[in-house]
Amino acid sequence: MLLLLNTYPLLVSEDLVFRAKETTLPNSVSVMVYSLSGLERLDEENVAAAMAVVEETGLSRILVTDSAGKVLYDTRETGSAVGEYAVYTEIVQALLGNDVFTCRYQNRAFRSRASSPVLYQNQIIGAVYAYEYDTEQAALLEGLQGNLMRLSIFIGVVVLGLSVLLSRALTRKIGQLLTAIRQVREGAYSHRANIRGRDEIAQIGQEFNSLTDRLQTTENARRRFVSDASHELKTPLAAIRLLTDSILQTDNIDPATTREFVADIGQEAERLSRITEDLLRLTRLDSGVLETPVVVDVLPVLEQAMRMMSLVAQEKNVDLTYEAAGSCTVLATKDEIHQVIYNLVDNAVKYSAAGGSVQVSLRRKEEQVVLSVADNGSGIPEADIPKIFERFYRVDKARSRAAGGTGLGLSIVRDTVQKRGGSVEAANRLAGGAVFTVRWPWRSQGGGGA
Ligand code: ADP
Repeated sequence: MLLLLNTYPLLVSEDLVFRAKETTLPNSVSVMVYSLSGLERLDEENVAAAMAVVEETGLSRILVTDSAGKVLYDTRETGSAVGEYAVYTEIVQALLGNDVFTCRYQNRAFRSRASSPVLYQNQIIGAVYAYEYDTEQAALLEGLQGNLMRLSIFIGVVVLGLSVLLSRALTRKIGQLLTAIRQVREGAYSHRANIRGRDEIAQIGQEFNSLTDRLQTTENARRRFVSDASHELKTPLAAIRLLTDSILQTDNIDPATTREFVADIGQEAERLSRITEDLLRLTRLDSGVLETPVVVDVLPVLEQAMRMMSLVAQEKNVDLTYEAAGSCTVLATKDEIHQVIYNLVDNAVKYSAAGGSVQVSLRRKEEQVVLSVADNGSGIPEADIPKIFERFYRVDKARSRAAGGTGLGLSIVRDTVQKRGGSVEAANRLAGGAVFTVRWPWRSQGGGGA
């Protein structure tokens, strides 16, 4: 842009001066040719006399030659060419009958030359040559050039200054963002990018912060999970160690006690395998790799689970009943549904007192398949209801352990159901006891539905 600013106006102005000269100089030459016309032949006297009448032209030099090119008149006093033969191309061209005009801008001056033949009865009897050396217009042009140059320098400096300031502000913000990214990468999840302003970089900073928030939450959950899981695994392992040590270190231990201890070891091992199974199940759910779902009728799965659980319920003297209505088909896998029913009914029986009752109901409600498992046990303290679906959360740790719980059953239920677009909630019944309600989106047998 600056280059254009520095060349284009100058070229246009130069062209304008050329055009002006192209009319004025040949005009002056015509006036002189006119004053010489009427002379039969040209000699020094009659030319001098004729030229004396021509008004002051302001030209640098005027030459008049005869038809052979010999100079008869020269305005230059020192170094006058009168009597010599002029060999300027312009004069040669004029003597051949052409009107000539040339103009050049050189060394801070416009140098214009024009020449024309002088005729007498269509015979070329001589030539007039004029030369103008104009520094005035050139000075104007140079002034313009200088101003444009100063303007360009000013614009250049301002633009440069602004770009430096802007890029500094930009790189400073990017630098802050980079520092924050590196800190978080190194594990400082509590670090936040503090970028002020409302521009895109500040927005990226905010997005980065909310991303880091989520990362921190996930990371905290992961750490808690790992520490809880190792703690859960440690307890049965410690019990096994204790039992084996007792057997090994007791002299003359009687076979009945040994059997008792070994049975306990077996129980703890069973607990360990339950925990690891549950952990594996959760890890699979976390990984997001799911089995391809199919349309499953929940009722047969429920019936099968009820048959299985009735033995456990009978053992605990708990009355287990179920009822079902409507076509209850959902998009999932049989194993998932079995797992959900099993975990909920298992809890209901586990946390019911002897002589209690557990009622399971399955029905379709509009576009949902609703499964509810209600018991008349101790219920859940209201404050704990939102937390019982968390991993390893138990209202009463000792009771859960004693009942063979892992603290993972409800997390598995929630994750399994949510992965298929459903939901699960817990509540206390007015009559006492807890009720768990699972909702799956209904899917018609043919694959349509909600
Ligand atoms: P657990 O293996 O301990 O049963 P869950 O995840 O299945 O683990 O359940 C979490 C906690 O929720 C239990 O420890 C228990 O305190 C509470 N809970 C679950 N089901 C019931 C229920 N039917 N009645 C009362 N409390 C329940």
